[in-house]
Amino acid sequence: MIYLDNAATTKPLESVIAVIEKFYRELYYNPSALYTSATNVAFEVERARTYISEQLGGNGKVFFTSCATESNAWAYGSGVKNKKGNVVVSMGEHASGYENAKALISKGYDVRFIKLQSDGRIDNADFLKKIDENTTFISVIHCSNETGAINDLKKLSVSAKSVAPKAIFHSDGVQALGKIPVNCNELGIDLYSVSAHKIGGVKGIGGLWVRNGLRLNPLLCGGGQEFGARSGTENTAGIASFAEALSVFKNNDNKKIRALRENMKSALSAIKGVEFNDCEQVSPYILSFSVAGIKSEIIQRLLSDRGILIGLGSACASKHRNNRILEAMGRSMTHIEGSMRISFSQETTDTDIKTAASAICECVRNFRGF
Ligand code: PLP
Repeated sequence: MIYLDNAATTKPLESVIAVIEKFYRELYYNPSALYTSATNVAFEVERARTYISEQLGGNGKVFFTSCATESNAWAYGSGVKNKKGNVVVSMGEHASGYENAKALISKGYDVRFIKLQSDGRIDNADFLKKIDENTTFISVIHCSNETGAINDLKKLSVSAKSVAPKAIFHSDGVQALGKIPVNCNELGIDLYSVSAHKIGGVKGIGGLWVRNGLRLNPLLCGGGQEFGARSGTENTAGIASFAEALSVFKNNDNKKIRALRENMKSALSAIKGVEFNDCEQVSPYILSFSVAGIKSEIIQRLLSDRGILIGLGSACASKHRNNRILEAMGRSMTHIEGSMRISFSQETTDTDIKTAASAICECVRNFRGF
């Protein structure tokens, strides 16, 4: 099996599984209880929170959620206060952000979408045009799950705050955390969504980093966990293993991963009609490309028969045949139908790349011959 769909999810790290096992076998107490066995668990939860918060740049705190979809929904739900102002959202958001923006429109909010450039980053001029002194909430994805394009959040937040100093700036950092440098303070943002299963953690645990001093509307009321902001017994194993995943994943050799990406790109360049959805500021973990005249689902199926797993853009959007983000980047329908996403991990080897690249070339040749 050659797994090249790591932007959809990653294989949990062995050390993550060990932490999970420890929490379910030994540290299973409810962290809200007052006996020592339970307070030890509460201590582990806070240790994980401190670690992840510090990794995100300090001066803020991570509130744990069940996934980044929940974090994004919370950011919108808490950041968008009333209908008086306007909301500015990039066209490049993952569905879990974009659908919240669409829901706001149907409730009568003034939502302004920022265009994408052909390289997948947001159009700065359009961003500045859409923001004004009445903007209350801004959301711009840090690193695109579709193409890997990295937005310059620092530049955007500085210009946004100069026009709308009170606006809350949210970013979806799911494909950035552990993969590219992230310091929410330096980036000048207020809310940042993260998820464990994209960095060798497990599914069912995410977080929303919140700048100190910013108060969120409680998401769930009840026993007062997560400082009263999100009640519900904590996913202690998920939380502790999220910190473990980050501590390992952040030490990945990005130079090696970038080289894998380059090698894959140059091998695929041999295909007639191939086009890359590439960008100068791109994550080393994602390579998006399209082969004209090909239906990517067919290539994906042929590859999977050979034990090679690749993605078709966003896994969450793969049930919809269109691709909103590539469309916003100005790609034609033929290009979109032939678009595929390869995403790497620390475990990916040079041999995997060679084998997968020649299999893709062969499948395309066979498809064309047929
Ligand atoms: N945001 C981005 C950029 C993603 O890639 C994903 C998952 O594909 C999500 C949000 C949703 O994350 P989760 O699966 O934790 O809800």
